[in-house]
Amino acid sequence: MDFGDPAVYERPLSACPLCTSGDIARLHEISRFSPPFRVDRCESCEFIFMNPRFTERTVRALYSEDYYRGTAEYSYFDEREAERYARYVWDARLRVMGRYARGGNFLDVGAAFGGFMNAASTRYSVYGIEPSEYSGGEAKKRYGERVHIGTLEDHPFESGFFSAITMIEVIEHLADPAGAVRECFRLLRDGGVLVVQTANMAGRQARLRGERYEYFMPGHLSYFTRKNLTGLLHKSGFSSVDAYLPVEFGLLPKLLKSRYSFKSIADYRSWIRIALYHLKSSVHFGDFALTSSMVLYAVKHAK
Ligand SMILES: [Zn+2]
Repeated sequence: MDFGDPAVYERPLSACPLCTSGDIARLHEISRFSPPFRVDRCESCEFIFMNPRFTERTVRALYSEDYYRGTAEYSYFDEREAERYARYVWDARLRVMGRYARGGNFLDVGAAFGGFMNAASTRYSVYGIEPSEYSGGEAKKRYGERVHIGTLEDHPFESGFFSAITMIEVIEHLADPAGAVRECFRLLRDGGVLVVQTANMAGRQARLRGERYEYFMPGHLSYFTRKNLTGLLHKSGFSSVDAYLPVEFGLLPKLLKSRYSFKSIADYRSWIRIALYHLKSSVHFGDFALTSSMVLYAVKHAK
């Protein structure tokens, strides 16, 4: 594959998109997808990023209906089918969020079909942003004008409007994650919370799997570590950042959610794998972690 093909790839970046350091080095070439892509790592802040990036046209082709139907090779589950099961995880997350922000306006960035909005609607007044017409159109059927089809760069919401904003496995899709975090900060009221879930590339799981790590996907442009994402949140103005590894809730919601894909009793054996993963994930100290998931809660002007 010709990484210089202007129909597929943009011109390569010569500096880190997160800290602007020019000290960047090739990390992997991911060739299990077509078109393939490369990721570089900043030697200064350890941010990992796709380089060269796909052109907008290439990206649009990635987020077809196939992506949401789960039939594309890099796929997202069709949340409408799974909503009953996903609800266990969403409700568990909302219980933790309630400790940070009780009531008020809630914004889900990357709202997809609006499933998390729906779960949150028992506690908050819910809004969503979703770039996909396909899934966002479905969310709009439920929530009308409260769903903005677009991005954090072109939404109609006013600063200080929200008490809680969530970006669940969204930030890795963004070309300008720093701009998105700054915008979330502006949109939050004082004391409001931003919840960000993404992979922690410093986790041992990510390091060991190298280029085979499942998080390397064509739609993912930006790969963080706990340390540099925490740094970005502080730099954007957030006064306190709590990190939860692997996630902010216990094992049970995950097990209940996993039943979605079960076809027979034998599938319950996968609970052993999930439980072991969860157990392993509890092993972390400082920047070291065995597994590679993280959820960060950032508070604007915490008291
Ligand atoms: Zn950097």
